[in-house]
Amino acid sequence: MRPAQPHKIRAVRGEAVAVARSLLLVHASELLTLRGPKGPRAREAASDLGILEDGAVYAEGERIVDVGTSAEILTRHPRAATTLDASGKVVLPGFVDAHTHAIFAGSRAQEVEWKAQGLTYAEIAARGGGILHTVRATREASEADLARLGLERLLAFVSLGTTTVEVKSGYGLQTQDELKMLRAAADAARTAGVDVVPTFLGAHAVPPEFEGRSDAYLDLLISETLPAVALARSAAYCDVFVEEGYFSAAQGRRLLQKAASLGLPGKVHADELSDTGGAALAAEVRAVSADHLLHASDAGIEAMARAGVIATLLPATSLASRMPFADGRRLLAAGVPVALGTDFNPNAWCESMQLVIALACHHNGLLPAQAIMAATVNAAYAVGRGEDVGTIERGKLADLLVLDAPSYHHLGYRIGGDLVEAVVKRGRVRKGRALTK
Ligand SMILES: [Zn+2]
Repeated sequence: MRPAQPHKIRAVRGEAVAVARSLLLVHASELLTLRGPKGPRAREAASDLGILEDGAVYAEGERIVDVGTSAEILTRHPRAATTLDASGKVVLPGFVDAHTHAIFAGSRAQEVEWKAQGLTYAEIAARGGGILHTVRATREASEADLARLGLERLLAFVSLGTTTVEVKSGYGLQTQDELKMLRAAADAARTAGVDVVPTFLGAHAVPPEFEGRSDAYLDLLISETLPAVALARSAAYCDVFVEEGYFSAAQGRRLLQKAASLGLPGKVHADELSDTGGAALAAEVRAVSADHLLHASDAGIEAMARAGVIATLLPATSLASRMPFADGRRLLAAGVPVALGTDFNPNAWCESMQLVIALACHHNGLLPAQAIMAATVNAAYAVGRGEDVGTIERGKLADLLVLDAPSYHHLGYRIGGDLVEAVVKRGRVRKGRALTK
């Protein structure tokens, strides 16, 4: 027997009087507006989704013009070029993925077998795997190849509901290849029609030609690579991997102070494998975010709360790297705004913010509402796009998702599937068009 499909999304051509490139999305059983004060949300505000029942959105061009109940919106805007009927479904802002390494060449699929056999990261590296495998492949790849690979991945992100993505460099580890990665990310973003926020991560690892000489590599980053990136205006942030065997907090401070002097705010890969003072450094240099935070100290977390640093949690990496999960509840209780990212990278291939939200609920201690806040508003602020995306409010970009679910709780509840039935990016229907015939 075929199941009834009473709530199928229907998009219809409007009448001639409809404004060109206008869009109506009506009858959402739950419209998660996430409206509220400007800025990332912490404490009680972190779980207020601003839900409208039988909600509707009207957009013209790329931007949202009106938000309200379906009765209100249909009175004020009776028709549009495209109409989506979201009866029985949840509508929310497009996901913002606040942390990815989506540009790289080569495959590390082989390493899954090695992980399953119990090999450690050091043993995998000794077999020719790990980050330096990716560095070799990425240096050898052309800019066009990297852009093509990036495009394929960005389209997969969009299909799963992500409409804004932060993308880091960090597999070139020399000036021309770091610039090549950042140009490829921008190229892929243009072709994919996705907003990409580029971050310079030249301090991702010490390249093989500088083995045992991390200070000399840092000198090169500070004197040559970072100024070249700033001159080309190819990054919005400068990030550093502060960890035993990578870069110390003192080295991170030097780099991020130089970046700030060039107009690039900081981000920190902080306290992932051990407490190396990454959270405190992020607070000290007023970084926009500190990411990972599995082993952050109480003092580090308190400093982040005082400095307004956002915590970006990356539970898919804990899953793929067989590590514990960051304590999101502890961060929220301390007054730190929490954001989420996939950390998509060659060691943890995860494009799905839906999976990340489910992991955050099951393992980081976030309520479903807090995880959705972390994947929209707070992630938007963590990548500097909070004024434009992350909520459904007048004036924001029309980045919208329709979920085939009766309530937002299903985002935490369902693990590993795809609830996203329609994606609207900057007012254009990107997924769900097949349902319009
Ligand atoms: Zn990362």
